[in-house]
Amino acid sequence: MSAEKLKEQFVYMRSQGLSSGSVFFDQLHTNPNDYAVTQFCLWLLDSMTEANTVLEAMRAALEIAYRQQTYTLSRLRRIRQSLPARKGGFRDYRQDVDRAIIALEKSKLGRLCRCEIVSLFDHAPEAHDFIKVTNVNSSQPDEKLIECCCDICQRQWRVTYTDSYHYPIYRWAKSSE
Ligand SMILES: [Zn+2]
Repeated sequence: MSAEKLKEQFVYMRSQGLSSGSVFFDQLHTNPNDYAVTQFCLWLLDSMTEANTVLEAMRAALEIAYRQQTYTLSRLRRIRQSLPARKGGFRDYRQDVDRAIIALEKSKLGRLCRCEIVSLFDHAPEAHDFIKVTNVNSSQPDEKLIECCCDICQRQWRVTYTDSYHYPIYRWAKSSE
């Protein structure tokens, strides 16, 4: 499916008043066409208006990172510079676009495993089905050390979870570091 078709679907979905688009993005996630998905996500970010939710922009940023189409790096940097500040999330959604930029920069040196991309986005390990949690240690009520493993590349990760700020923070580090 082409990027144009994806746009049509997305615009139609919005015209029907379907909110946040999480079903749309779940489908997008399984779409094997890296080129079309990347082009669609760049278009979405490039045309951020009041109609877009920050959640959509954050999902788009993650998809761009997953697809590792490094030739889009300069365009993505340009788009980032003109992204409007928006409220509606716990943190500035533009940080996720910064993370996508970092992912593409790293990907230029060699293709990344999905776990390395997710690690840049500071997500909860259990939010991704290819990450298997192997151990959880809690020293304090609002802190946890989560040990986990990637099903794809078998890399081990240690994730520090902190809930002592306004929102939970997950920091990923490779187990050997
Ligand atoms: Zn991995």
